Amino acid sequence: MPDVFADLVGQDDVVDTLRRAAASAAAVLRGAAAVHAAATAGPVDPDDADALAAEAEATEGAGGADQESGMTHAWILTGPPGSGRSVAARAFAAALQCLRGTGCGECQGCHTTLAGTHADVRLVVPEGLSIGVGEMRALVLRAASTPSGGRWQVVIVSDADRLTEAAGNALLKAVEEPPPRTVFLLCAPSTHPDDVSVTIRSRCRVLPLRQPAPEAVAEVLVRRDGVAPDVARWAAAAAQGHVGRARRLAGDPEARSRRDAVLAVPRRLTGVGAAFDAASALIEAAEAEAEAAVTESDAAERAALQTALGAGGTGRGAAGAMRGAAGQLKELEKRQKSRATRAQRDALDRALVDLAGFYRDALTAALRAPVAPVHTDTAALAEAGAQRWDAEGSLRRLEAVVECRAAIEANVKPRIAVEAMMLTLWKG
Ligand SMILES: [Zn+2]
Repeated sequence: MPDVFADLVGQDDVVDTLRRAAASAAAVLRGAAAVHAAATAGPVDPDDADALAAEAEATEGAGGADQESGMTHAWILTGPPGSGRSVAARAFAAALQCLRGTGCGECQGCHTTLAGTHADVRLVVPEGLSIGVGEMRALVLRAASTPSGGRWQVVIVSDADRLTEAAGNALLKAVEEPPPRTVFLLCAPSTHPDDVSVTIRSRCRVLPLRQPAPEAVAEVLVRRDGVAPDVARWAAAAAQGHVGRARRLAGDPEARSRRDAVLAVPRRLTGVGAAFDAASALIEAAEAEAEAAVTESDAAERAALQTALGAGGTGRGAAGAMRGAAGQLKELEKRQKSRATRAQRDALDRALVDLAGFYRDALTAALRAPVAPVHTDTAALAEAGAQRWDAEGSLRRLEAVVECRAAIEANVKPRIAVEAMMLTLWKG
């Protein structure tokens, strides 16, 4: 059966939760309709009317107290990029608009939502520039109107971590005093305060997406992207369940060669000097990868903003406009810088995840654990490491990588954290 949640890879718990919420949301609508029918049907048994009114009150709006299984008006879907958080948000929107059930995939409500044409579903995707306050205010205003389809107004913010502070405040206001039929679905990498403000988070139900199992990722690479099965299996295992990463490894030779360079680190660690060299190489590779990722979009954004602001201009008000333009350019540069930093951290983190996979392979080899290696192409090397280090030494090294990731997440300077890690990887 085609189902709106079909493209969500390996997220059974999330799908369960969202389906239950959609069912509960449908019950809210039925309750409201029953009360409406009772109210317009003339005299009724007062007991019935009371019961209906009580039900309506219990289920009024989506912001009810039923946090465990029910519906609520504001959600944050978290997960690393590529884990499917925006796929999940759109599928949930379809389930809310479904006319037959909780996301049949076939009715008009499901179909138009998935196609992006449903009148009551708004998707905010910041194309390069951050989501500004003007856009957010207009969105919040429209979201407060009565749903034209008689169900829900759904607002999906696909990168809630890219809201400007002012836009975040506009959104917060709407989330704090939600219109009765409006549902906000925010997608973000995490609920870290850098991604989502603490106050917005406190008003939302958080739904974390898991890293899907490699088998599920391989299956979708074959089915959706036409990747050969053996390549798909290798990429899914090497990506440790990260859908987007697996797709890149399967299709992008540069991503593969960057991974090869990272996995060459363990055999290059022959002394203190080599450890520091390896740290520098890892940091610089992450910087280069991040730069390649953002340079093009940075230039395009700058050009677009300059065009939008109009170059030159000599008429009345031009001086004021220029001052405004300078402010906007400054704001753009600030955001581009923070995005570059983020891209660097992401690239470094991917490298650390690959490295952790290698030491995990060494550990499982040392323990003779009957599990498949993460990196089949360096399994022999991991095996050799396991013989030298034993389980204990392998574990210490794995822990060093994990600690390095945690330190960087906690804002330790990446170079310092990576150097400390390399020394442990060398000495054990
Ligand atoms: Zn449907």
